[in-house]
Amino acid sequence: RCIQVCDNIQGVGIWDVQNRGTRTNVGVKFAQYIEESNCALCGQCITHCPVGALHERDDVQKVYDALADKEKTVIVQVAPAVRSAWGESLGLDAKQSTPGKMSNALHKLGFDYVFDTNFTADLTIMEEGSELIERLTKHANKPHSFPMFTSCCPGWIRFVKAHYPQFVDNLSTAKSPQQMFGPIAKTYWAKRMKLDPENIVCVSIMPCLAKKHESDLENMDDAGAGQDVDIVLTTREFVRMINSSQINVADLKDDKFDSPLGESTGAAVIFGVTGGVMEAALRSAYFLVTGKNPKADAFKEVRGYDGWREASFKLPGKTLKVAIANGLGNAAKLLDAIDEGRVTYDFVEIMACPGGCVGGGGQPICDGKELAQGRGQILYNLDKGAKLRFSHENPEVQKLYEDFLGAPLSKKSHKLLHSNHHDWNMPHV
Ligand code: SF4
Repeated sequence: RCIQVCDNIQGVGIWDVQNRGTRTNVGVKFAQYIEESNCALCGQCITHCPVGALHERDDVQKVYDALADKEKTVIVQVAPAVRSAWGESLGLDAKQSTPGKMSNALHKLGFDYVFDTNFTADLTIMEEGSELIERLTKHANKPHSFPMFTSCCPGWIRFVKAHYPQFVDNLSTAKSPQQMFGPIAKTYWAKRMKLDPENIVCVSIMPCLAKKHESDLENMDDAGAGQDVDIVLTTREFVRMINSSQINVADLKDDKFDSPLGESTGAAVIFGVTGGVMEAALRSAYFLVTGKNPKADAFKEVRGYDGWREASFKLPGKTLKVAIANGLGNAAKLLDAIDEGRVTYDFVEIMACPGGCVGGGGQPICDGKELAQGRGQILYNLDKGAKLRFSHENPEVQKLYEDFLGAPLSKKSHKLLHSNHHDWNMPHV
């Protein structure tokens, strides 16, 4: 199944059968180590393995060590898609495993502050949406301005760098929400709290394996205090910690996320599902161009789970043509079509995992079931019920710009929230 999902769904072909007869086994093609290969680190081989033969690097002990260190302030951020799935392995449905209970469980595990990656998802929209508008207005004729590709999925970034390097300069330079959170926590928040950033341990809980690698990249140290994000756990590792601590989640009350860096909007929570980043970006891009909010569901045409979808929207003076792909096999088809001039787009969202992060390689494993769509619906329901549904209306993001960053795409925003995709290489390019 690992070979099949990697070959047929993701189109990457990292795994293969090796040797013959009784010595047959599964390994990385050409007898490489996985880190020497062009693996996207999407983790679909793990979630599709029926016998638990594959697993991610276990970082749980590092978190326990940090929590036991009295010198350290240990903070945690939780990605949007985690809240759609963490209850599954605990036998709880969406009503019994709310984001509030998740925050309570994290406080109970001993984290000093529990924050929400949704906060930096809103921040990503401010930066990426402004970058799109800047390309449309100031850099329309520059090579590589269009299509602009989203950059919040590190599995997709690894894929495009390895297989379609001609498109690397089309990527938005905005970091992923995880990697925006780290430097903001270790600069802006550390200063507010009068904490030495060297003594902050920044942990994240992600539906994703590629984000473990992303946090280790040599250029992800913009706060000047070591790695911006120190430890990344998957949803599965988080659930193991809950089980080890014998926390009965069903009995927990809803807790708020800590503030600032805990407030978020409905636009942020849909980052976890394919089409969500596009929809959130369009909501704010419309506001940036017209000064008025569209209806919150004005761009819902981008929703759905087909592998490659497209839509057009009218903005004043411009019809924006967008496309969305989920799963790397679909991404390859879309990139080939762009490369051969068969299609043209202004803005393209790509998520490496089928269904987006809700189907991420770090999510709970339910053998034989594809749960991404049900999880996606949980995120859409959270968006629908949110008080605020536009990233630019997040009051804590507004305050961050007012007090610290200045404006989207400012010099400080560029230093902390954007990265150069050429700063590191894939093994075989
Ligand atoms: Fe990670 Fe989400 Fe990308 Fe999958 S789709 S690799 S979970 S960021």
